[in-house]
Amino acid sequence: MSGSCHTQVVMICQRCLGEVTLDIDSSFELGLVFNDEQARQLPRRLEPAELDEQGQLDLWTVIEDEVLLALPPFPTHSEDECQLLQTESEPEPETTDSDGKRPNPFDVLAQLKQK
Ligand SMILES: [Zn+2]
Repeated sequence: MSGSCHTQVVMICQRCLGEVTLDIDSSFELGLVFNDEQARQLPRRLEPAELDEQGQLDLWTVIEDEVLLALPPFPTHSEDECQLLQTESEPEPETTDSDGKRPNPFDVLAQLKQK
């Protein structure tokens, strides 16, 4: 059985953590089998798709698996759409967190006084 699917998925951009809509195009060739033994005998180019006892194929599961396989491991916006790339030229505001990590000279004085 061969087929193709075209769909859109919404994922999280790994650069700006915003939502990004991606076009997914996937084509597949499946070998229909009843058990693992038959699956092992398939030519390598075919992915096994297992039928149930009535010889029915759960097409939804097959399509779902194909879409999952076609998802990019590192989804991002295109360069002109990504929020992070557009604001990258602006200087990053100093966070209080990074300030807190710096040694404070007054803390050192306070420690000396305690001794
Ligand atoms: Zn982005």
